[in-house]
Formats: sequence, C-alpha cells, structure tokens
Amino acid sequence: MKGAADPCLISSCLRNAFHQRIPHFLPNPRRLSSSPANSSAENLSVTQVVTNSLTRTKEAISMANPPVLRWYSCGPTVYDSAHLGHAYSFMQFDLIRRVLEDYRGLNVVQVMNITDIDDKIIHKANQLKMDWREVARNYEDEFREEMRSLGIKPPTITARITSFLPQIVGFTQKLIDSGMAYVAPSGSVYFSQEKYGRASKFIKSSTPEGFDKSEKKSGADFALWKGAKAGEPSWPVPFSPVPGRPGWHIECSTVASHFFGSSVDLHSGGIDLMFPHHENEEAQCCAHHGVDNWAGQWIHAGHLLAPNATKMSKSDRNFITIRSYLERSTSDQFRMYCMRHHYRSNCTFDDEEIRISSDLISKFTNFCNLVDAYLNGVVPASCSSVEEPEILQQIRETERQIDSCLADDFSYPFALQALSELVSICHRQLAPLRKSTVTSATSYSAMAAAANLTETFFRSAGLVLPTKRNAEARTATAAGSSPEAMALPKVMDAVLDFRSVVRGAGLSMRKETPALSKEMLGACDGLRDRLQRSGVRVKDLGGGSTWELEQQVPVKVSAETGSKVGSVKSP
Ligand SMILES: [Zn+2]
Repeated sequence: MKGAADPCLISSCLRNAFHQRIPHFLPNPRRLSSSPANSSAENLSVTQVVTNSLTRTKEAISMANPPVLRWYSCGPTVYDSAHLGHAYSFMQFDLIRRVLEDYRGLNVVQVMNITDIDDKIIHKANQLKMDWREVARNYEDEFREEMRSLGIKPPTITARITSFLPQIVGFTQKLIDSGMAYVAPSGSVYFSQEKYGRASKFIKSSTPEGFDKSEKKSGADFALWKGAKAGEPSWPVPFSPVPGRPGWHIECSTVASHFFGSSVDLHSGGIDLMFPHHENEEAQCCAHHGVDNWAGQWIHAGHLLAPNATKMSKSDRNFITIRSYLERSTSDQFRMYCMRHHYRSNCTFDDEEIRISSDLISKFTNFCNLVDAYLNGVVPASCSSVEEPEILQQIRETERQIDSCLADDFSYPFALQALSELVSICHRQLAPLRKSTVTSATSYSAMAAAANLTETFFRSAGLVLPTKRNAEARTATAAGSSPEAMALPKVMDAVLDFRSVVRGAGLSMRKETPALSKEMLGACDGLRDRLQRSGVRVKDLGGGSTWELEQQVPVKVSAETGSKVGSVKSP
C-alpha cells in the first residue's frame, strides 16, 4: 500500500484487528470484472484467508463438499427490536458474503436460525399479555424488514426453531443414548462435560452456566432441553414424562446439522456468542457426530461501541435501534461505516463517524460525476489532457491491491484506501492544476475505466453510489417508481441546459452591457442556491454544469433509553 493510511478511512481500532496481518499472496489474482471464479477448494485456498477464532490464526477458507460453501450464521432471538450492534454484525457478514459470492464467485449456502421460543420471549409475552407466538412473529417480521432496509442479503435458508422441534428432540435423544447427556427429575436434559471429556476450545477455563445448578451433575454442564414450568409453552418428549422446550445452544447445532450434516465450512456470530454459545454448539456437535472438529472456521464480528466506548447493549441502555437510525441516516452510510472498519474490530459509533462515512460516499460519487462530465465535454475550465499511461498503471495496481486486501481476511478498509488513492490521482489530473507538461494524448477511456472500477467496487459491496448515472434508478427506487421521481433527471438536465445558455450569454456580455450581465448571472446564481436548498448541488465547470443529489445530512445520533430499551439475544 502506498503512502500513509488516511485517518478518515482507517480508524485506530483497525490496528488491533491487524496485529496478525500476514503477507499478501496472490498467485492467481482475480479482477472485479472477471468471470465467475473457479470454486474448487484448491484454488480458493490460495486466494482467500480468514481469521479462525478457534485457532486465532489466518487460514485458507476450505470447503468440505465443493463447490458448495456451507455457512451457518447465528440469528436473532426475536423478543424485542434489534439495535445497531446487531446490525453491525449482520452487515459485516453481508460484506464478507458478497466477497465470497459476488467477487470470488463461490456458491454459498447460508443458513440462519430465528429463535422463536425462549425465556425472554415468554417473559415479554407475559408482560404484554400476548400470545408468545404473536410476540415472536411480530419481532421476526420487524427483523426481516430491517435487514431488507439495510440491504443485507437474506440467508439462503431461514430456519424458525419451532419448525425443527422433532429434529431437536432427536438430536437430544441421541446424546442421551450415547451417555453424553442425562435427564434430570425436572425433565431438563444436560450435556455431561465429564462424559464428553474434552477441554474447552475457545476459552481454556470454562465457567458454570446458570440454569438450575442444583440438579446438574457438574457446574460446567449445560442444558440441551428445559423441562417446562407451570404455564410455559412446552412439547412432549420421549425421554421424560415432563414436557419441555429446547435450550438455546442445541437449536443452532440441530438446524446446522439438519441442513449440512456432520460439519459446516463457516460458522459466524458476534464476538459475545463465542462463549458459552459457540463453545457449547461445538461440543454437542462433536459428541453427536463423533468428530474432533465440527466447524471448519469460526468467524466473529467485533462489538459496536457507544460514544462512551462501552459495548452497545440492552443492559447498558446505550443502544440505538435500527429503526431509529434509519429515520435519521441512510443504510448506505452505515454500510460505508462498516466498510471502514474491519469486521473483527470493536468500533465506536457516533455522529462524527456517520459524517465521515457520508463524506466518503460523496467523494467517490463526485469523482464518478466529474468523470461523467469530462467524458461528455463538460470539463474543468483549465483541465489538461489526461496522462493515460499513469492512469492505466494506477488502475492495474488498484485492482491488485483491492483483490489482495479482500483476500487477506476481508480487509475492506485497506481496499477502500487503495481506491481512494486512485481517485485522488485521477482528481489531480482532472482538476485545473496542470496547464502544461502534457506528454501523451488525451484518453477518455482510461478515466472512464477508473470511474467504472470505483462504481463496480462499491456495487460489489452492496453500495450503489448515488451518481448522476444511477440517479434515475435510485430516485425511482426511493420514491416507489413514482412518475415524479422518474422525471427528476430529465427535468434537472433541462433546467441546467437552459441555465447554461443564460449564464454563457451573461458572461459574454459583461463588457458591453454590464448591468444586464450582472442581472443574468445573479439570476443563475440564485437558481443554483435555490436548488442547493432543495438538496440538489449544482457545479459550474468550464463547458457547462453538473448536478448531484446531496447526501442525506445525518442528524444527532443519540442512544435510546428508558421504555424503548430492547434487543435480540444474538448475535
Ligand atoms: Zn447459534
């Protein structure tokens, strides 16, 4: 990477995530625009590495059953509204998935659970005097809608836990039959750490989990199945006369095993799920399937931190719900925020972070618009010819760096840095700074290629830049394809064409009729200012004018407290 890191792009917390940074190795670098990847495990192993939380090292992603990459992602417990801490985790995994699918061309099958039966759901239903099923379904619908609003790809399979109760009972029964689990008088079933006999993988010293320790044989044993208490929803089981409901950990193990068999390639979740949830998932799956290791690679997203540097969580009452965030700022700004921070980082979220993210979207968008103007003859007043060899060389280098950064544990921040350097170099050539020393012919295609690379990079990451070229489709989408939105680009082009004629005439008659010239130019400036107040920024260049929609200005982002406090359990 050339030059010093831009502090606006790469935050200080990123350094912690890269303490294990390894040299780039790309024997077969691939381009953003290349054809679908050869998805064999052999080729993948030399192009894409990820930090396995279990081994704490970077490893090549592997597929046990190529060409399918089997990915299990821990989903939400739907008892309240999700907050930005959850969104951060799901957005980071969405960015990773887009690299694997849209950039590497892999066939990813992603399964995610929806935990729709749980202590917290029962408690919330009692609070609201509602049926627990209705509570769960309402928050599940809200969660799905918010993920859609954030542009996060839906999982290939979304598994509602209450639809898998026979499988969970069967999984539990097998562990009882093999002696790895035992039934307590309450009807609860516990996993026996003593029978399992293996050390913890994620944390060396395990701590007891708190579910009715009085009937457990060991403090480290954890519940697979919970005998029902009076008034709780429950299901009959063959291993006890007391009906009950599943424990949290076994839900994920059963659903993953149902779809993927005795192993998964990737398993993801927030860092707070590593222990005990993932520790227990791994243990019961190894015991159930008779294997030493169940998940190929465990990946964990870091915490989102509130402005006071504490983890955004329900218990600390310092979170922002996804809904309230989207009322103030955009999903693209949040996606850019996530791209600026490595997925393993713990990152502070505040107004300044949103402002920086918004400015970056504007920087890349404005560059594409400037190139568009250049290609269409609306060039800066004193723009020199573009030096084609320098631009082409920089594009090749940027493509290599982007590929290299993403291959190295999905390092979007450094990929952003590389693209930013390309844009800065192109900007310098387009800006009215160099009036001489042109040694090569003007090249439109090189500059167009730089803009194409910029748009393609962000589109691959799920962020469609609001460039003028994309304005028609974007405004149509935002406004539900209304005729008014569809007409905006055409109307703006017509208005600016007329303004350019008036402005050109005003400029040309400054000496002959200065008063009239001043009046005409003042009217043009007034129109520009009026449009700006309406959210349309007009730029006057040498050969005409361009326009762009201004980014939505974020308003004060503040934590929510009090009665609105709520969250989902995982990730
Ligand atoms: Zn899980």
